Amino acid sequence: MKSLESFPRINLGILPTPIHKLENISRLLGRNIYIKRDDMTGLGLGGNKIRKLEFLLADAKAQGAEIVFTTGGAQSNHAMLTAAAAGKLGMKAVLVLKQRGVTDCVGNQLLERLMGTDVRFVDTDDYADIYAEMDRIGKEMGRPYYKIPCGGSNALGALGYVACAKEIAGQGLHFDHIICAEGSGGTMAGLALGAKLFLPGTTVHGMMVDTDPFDLITPALMREAAELLEISPEITPEDYPLRDMCGPGYAIASEAGNAAVSLVAEREGIFLDPVYTGKAFAGLLELAKEGAFAETDNILFLHSGGAGGLFAIKMETAPDEL
Ligand SMILES: *Cc1c(COP(=O)(O)O)cnc(C)c1O
Repeated sequence: MKSLESFPRINLGILPTPIHKLENISRLLGRNIYIKRDDMTGLGLGGNKIRKLEFLLADAKAQGAEIVFTTGGAQSNHAMLTAAAAGKLGMKAVLVLKQRGVTDCVGNQLLERLMGTDVRFVDTDDYADIYAEMDRIGKEMGRPYYKIPCGGSNALGALGYVACAKEIAGQGLHFDHIICAEGSGGTMAGLALGAKLFLPGTTVHGMMVDTDPFDLITPALMREAAELLEISPEITPEDYPLRDMCGPGYAIASEAGNAAVSLVAEREGIFLDPVYTGKAFAGLLELAKEGAFAETDNILFLHSGGAGGLFAIKMETAPDEL
């Protein structure tokens, strides 16, 4: 196996992020629930994308890129954090975002305005069109550029979460279960592969917050990341259990997700977000209710961030959206 340390990586995050017990929720559920604070990765408003960007932007720099492109929805946390990281590294970020969703100057749009980020909206959901637009703008600008896919979820980005699994292994506690949100797949794939390598006896559960075919995307990304590490572990569906927590749609609040956001805010003073982590925590509550966790199990919830989007989404779920 090629070591993680042999990949170019730029230190962007304040790592390791803390792990602590959610005392009140643990009491409520009668189970040992811990949280990994990747909302505190330290750049921008924190979040999971920082770990991926450490590998992706190192690759961009190594290739001599001066401009970094990425994409996502109008309120993409990933896009905002890419702009924050690029700025810190003296690179120019150009965000080619889908027009769909909240494009007002609130949430991540506001943060991009504050950073002076070059944001372009395109009226398409087709990634082929979006990447073609990046090439068009890149050529127009006439400087070397690098394209980061939606969510930073390619094999190289996923290495950020393979490294996170290794980090968790070094933090002293054994976890029987890890729960994370799955939106573009890199976090789940990285953690699930990383658990196979560094966390024996840990099952990573992906809580799907979008409707993409994650049963195909997750193992494919795990295999591609494994290939980068020059290993070929056997990967079966037991390695990446998935649960549909999307509700009425991607980036549309769900009742269960909002209830989880409120519960964790009220009992623990920690803010989840309605698009990713609230829905993922609702999945944790469902698993607990179904008896998936033994009383002696240690369960780790990955708080993957999302604070930027928290201020751009309606918490009321309109009845016609349910
Ligand atoms: C992007 C994102 C996720 C999902 O991670 P993926 O690697 O895209 O599946 C989860 N939580 C937050 C807050 C995010 O911004």
